[in-house]
Amino acid sequence: MLDIQITKTTSPKAKPADESKLGFGKIFTDHMFVMDYAPDKGWHDARIVPYQPFPLDPACVIFHYAQEIFEGLKAYRTADNTIQLFRPDCNGQRMQDSADRMCIPKIPVEDFVQAVKTLVEVDKDWVPHSDGASLYIRPFVFATDVGMGVHASRNYTFCVICAPSGAYYAEGIDPVRIYVEDEYIRAAPGLTGFTKCGGNYAASIKAGEMAEQQGFAQVLWLDGVEKKYVEEVGSMNIMFKIDGKIYTAPCTGTVLPGVTRRSIIELLKDWGYEVCEEHVAIADIMKAGHDGKLEEVFGTGTAAVVSPVKELDWKGDKVFISGGKIGELTQKLYDTLTGIQWGKLPDTKGWIVPV
Ligand code: PMP
Repeated sequence: MLDIQITKTTSPKAKPADESKLGFGKIFTDHMFVMDYAPDKGWHDARIVPYQPFPLDPACVIFHYAQEIFEGLKAYRTADNTIQLFRPDCNGQRMQDSADRMCIPKIPVEDFVQAVKTLVEVDKDWVPHSDGASLYIRPFVFATDVGMGVHASRNYTFCVICAPSGAYYAEGIDPVRIYVEDEYIRAAPGLTGFTKCGGNYAASIKAGEMAEQQGFAQVLWLDGVEKKYVEEVGSMNIMFKIDGKIYTAPCTGTVLPGVTRRSIIELLKDWGYEVCEEHVAIADIMKAGHDGKLEEVFGTGTAAVVSPVKELDWKGDKVFISGGKIGELTQKLYDTLTGIQWGKLPDTKGWIVPV
């Protein structure tokens, strides 16, 4: 149990007047959680302080060798005005897995959850009220040793910041076009694909920018060895419904194990679907599309929850899915998960953690 010192701001910011213009991750709340790590003290000095910049030496390890990890989750306001989190322990566990790979000292899952809960409680008035809007929470750890030389830092800072964010789909869920990336790769066996480290995202930006310029929402990454099997989308896992079965890449080190992915797999199994966590070749997906067997395709992630895909483009070959409409299963998954998250449906799975 952390002993968190709380210093409240004396100059609170004005809350956004128009929640329909929030966007994603653009404005931040009044406070942040901070905790430091030193070899002789471990994680120490847990505190909530007014949101402010960090004074960092230009020679800090984080700036040069990117020793950093992060997480992403949300707080939701229910109709009766309680504030709740969705499976924050899963994010705490994933941060431990990322920490392990990046040689960063682990934060106990219960301390991670306590830090998030306490900060959201302090900034609870910032949790949006409007339908579909939520408070996006960004925990992150970065290396603070000063000096050059590629080795693990000895000192770190853990910080949590929050951004009130608008409904992902302002005008209802909107199917997206996805570009299958066949030049660049995101991950390979032995690398850091399963972690949420900044470097994974830095390496992905070029392909994402090129796809965006051509009107695609995101790229679909193929495996980094043969560029043959589908892995995941820029910031989502991806699932394919073919002939009634659901296929998604297995979490064997190259794919980020999404909390949404895991929750959806549980729901699908409860509903009697066969879920195949296996390597599926992009050629087979395209063939299923051309043969009329690719029934639905959707991305899964905290930001959009479930994101229907209407088109896949691979080396100039295109398949169109569900006639550009939202598939029945995609819609049911979206309604169920968002229903649980915003407290409109009962939480029979024990996924909700009240703040
Ligand atoms: N893959 C990547 C690369 C991501 O950045 C995300 C977003 N965290 C996901 C998958 C989905 O993970 P989650 O469901 O935990 O948000």
